[in-house]
Amino acid sequence: MENFDFTNIQNIIYMLSAMLFITGIKMLGKESTAQKGNFISATGMLLAVSATAINIVNPLIAIVAILLGGIIGAVISVKVKMTSIPEMVALFNGFGGLATFLIAWSQMNNLVNDIAILQFVLVVITIYIGGVTFSGSLVAFGKLSGRINVNKGDVLANIFVSLFYLSLIAVPVTLIALSIYIETYQLIFYTFLAIVILGGIGFVLPIGGGDMPVVISLLNSFSGIAAAFAGLLLVNNVLIVAGSLVGASGLILTIIMAKAMNRTVGNILFVGYASSNSSSSKDEGEVKPINAEDAYLILENSSSVLIVPGYGMAVAQAQHVVRELGELLEENGAEVKYGIHPVAGRMPGHMNVLLAEANVSYDLLVEPDDVNPTMEVFDVAIVIGANDVVNPSATEEPGSPIYGMPIIEVHKAKTVFVLKRSMSSGFAGVQNPLFFKENTRMLFGDAKDSISNLVSEFKEL
Ligand code: NDP
Repeated sequence: MENFDFTNIQNIIYMLSAMLFITGIKMLGKESTAQKGNFISATGMLLAVSATAINIVNPLIAIVAILLGGIIGAVISVKVKMTSIPEMVALFNGFGGLATFLIAWSQMNNLVNDIAILQFVLVVITIYIGGVTFSGSLVAFGKLSGRINVNKGDVLANIFVSLFYLSLIAVPVTLIALSIYIETYQLIFYTFLAIVILGGIGFVLPIGGGDMPVVISLLNSFSGIAAAFAGLLLVNNVLIVAGSLVGASGLILTIIMAKAMNRTVGNILFVGYASSNSSSSKDEGEVKPINAEDAYLILENSSSVLIVPGYGMAVAQAQHVVRELGELLEENGAEVKYGIHPVAGRMPGHMNVLLAEANVSYDLLVEPDDVNPTMEVFDVAIVIGANDVVNPSATEEPGSPIYGMPIIEVHKAKTVFVLKRSMSSGFAGVQNPLFFKENTRMLFGDAKDSISNLVSEFKEL
């Protein structure tokens, strides 16, 4: 028993974990099975971590680390507000990148004593992807939480962008330099570490406008790819499988999001600034405010209504009253649809999650391509805290930072109600000509209050 080899048992547990990950991910594809899928994947992760802990010389360290990580994760997930989940996801991606960055760094000293070319290549690549993911994700966190704003022409930002380009050639240069000067590797290696971290900042800093969703999915994919490389480095099967799953699914999501923005990934990453602070100074005319009573009179006579939710619905937590309004409209004889833009809110699928939480039937959800051709038949489009995703500048103003992004063309409906608190712009920082259109009425106020007022009007019937 003393010489018992745990490796086989460990590999069987790893295989089981991988099966649980794959089953869990598959179940996440459907709203009805998503919760179970999440639990199954988490069980797979607990198994994988526990099996890995067997190898650790002092099991107490492993148990404390698992408990600490588990408690911190549980507290964060209970405390975090729905509207802050995108920032949390950005941080999670970043910590994934940091973990792989540190793993690869820790392997460097072993390698110097026992030179193996493949291992060197793996260390340098893992450090690069992990490091860029780490610092890039911190910048993404800053941008999503409104702490970081970058303008075209910022000197400091341009320096960071140059460092990103420098970091792209740093990988082959470092490999060559290390192979020549391995005895005095420290200077080259630490310079490489610094360039990678600063390059990651320059990677995300210039990205703005409506392009952030694509970058966040890409960083998510990078964190998986870095983990897969770390798995190769440590010869750890479950890390390779889990990393590849995250890497591949993140990449698929990146391509889907880029398509939704009508851009290519390369175009988003390398075609300069889409300033997040730009706004049109053009005089757009006057807005026409409306109150809940008058809005109700129009809605009561409508036979088809399109509801378009956006980030503001998440902020107001208005999804439940929105569902109630939808049901009242249907009871009143109207056909109701929900127009869902793929980048509405602050994370992929944000609106789907909120509406599912409020028990809105998935059959009522329509995508821009499906609803735009028939927009003229809707009597009313109710825009609830959405802004960029219904901004006609994207189709009408070639100079706009969001030009080319597909939108839900609510301005073509017979009447548009826009529910928001002020005239301020959305995430892309762009003025919205929709607010000034002849057929638009602004229902100012918190989205939940405004919808509740409409619901009360219907109930007073
Ligand atoms: P926007 O960010 O364009 O606009 C949201 C609007 O909601 C604001 O104009 C705000 O106006 C309003 N609002 C905020 N709070 C409330 C409230 N309590 N009640 C009523 N209105 C409120 O949101 P969209 O969903 O239209 O577009 C998403 C944007 O975010 C896109 O640019 C997208 O690219 C970007 N993004 C998306 C990600 C994703 O994965 N989905 C990730 C990162 C960025 P006011 O303050 O006047 O109330």
